[in-house]
Amino acid sequence: MLKIVIAGPRGNMGREAVKMVHADSNFQLVGVVDIEHDGLKMKEVPDMEPLDVQIYENITECLQQTKCDILIDLTSPKAGKKHMLAAFDNGVRPVVGTTGFTEEDVKELSDIAQSKQIGAIIAPNFAIGAILMMKFSQMAARYMPHVEIIEQHHDRKLDAPSGTAVKTAQMITEVRQSMKQGHPDEEEQLKGARGADYDGLRIHSVRLPGLVAHQEVIFGGEGQTLKLRHDSLNRTSFMPGIKLACETVMKLDVLVYGLEHIME
Ligand code: NAP
Repeated sequence: MLKIVIAGPRGNMGREAVKMVHADSNFQLVGVVDIEHDGLKMKEVPDMEPLDVQIYENITECLQQTKCDILIDLTSPKAGKKHMLAAFDNGVRPVVGTTGFTEEDVKELSDIAQSKQIGAIIAPNFAIGAILMMKFSQMAARYMPHVEIIEQHHDRKLDAPSGTAVKTAQMITEVRQSMKQGHPDEEEQLKGARGADYDGLRIHSVRLPGLVAHQEVIFGGEGQTLKLRHDSLNRTSFMPGIKLACETVMKLDVLVYGLEHIME
């Protein structure tokens, strides 16, 4: 049985992860890391699952006392990086859904994982349907290189564009020539109207209450358009991916970035 700690158990994602880990007979939830309620049990906090699981504020204390195998992090980029560094220092494998890490962060964490030979997974999107959307987008961009991405999320999301949109853009630029899209002389009358520029590809971020996580990738060609769309309708959509990552991370001795690399 794999012993698991979850950081961010009061968050939207963390709550679902607590339920998923608790319900899985191959996993045991041995602790949670929360900036409130240090020293209490989860069952003593009104808005947490009624479990006999210890709450820690200090990540190192939590990892050392629980002797866990895996740390699932669903917090913020700053906390997530701190938690991953502590996990590497304590021989614990991180499975990270937190988004907003910079390329430099990922490189630094990857180098540490490699030098310590500790497996880790960071996945900007744990929804298996979203990974398929990224793969299909890469396939389509070979034939239809003019593409724009519209991502839509709830208005509590801190980072923009989403990790999924950036990853999709990165995968598309791997298969197409660098190019500027739109009219060569186009001008924004209102700053930001054309969205963010990723190697000529435009990414537009929508933030509204009521949304969860949605992305549309629009390809344009002579007399035709193609739209690929994925919708996460609620946070349970991410749990099969987190479960797969927990099962897989125990067999890794490097950091893997992106769920697509562990899906056959
Ligand atoms: P959320 O509802 O805001 O939850 C984040 C939780 O982390 C909050 O409860 C927050 O506590 C807690 N937190 C912040 N700093 C902490 C620390 N130092 N130690 C412990 N807990 C800390 O956000 P969410 O929607 O659950 O998303 C969490 C992260 O996952 C975000 O980065 C989001 O973009 C990402 N995400 C990833 C996927 C994926 O598939 N990979 C899917 C959805 C979301 P307070 O409430 O006290 O601030």
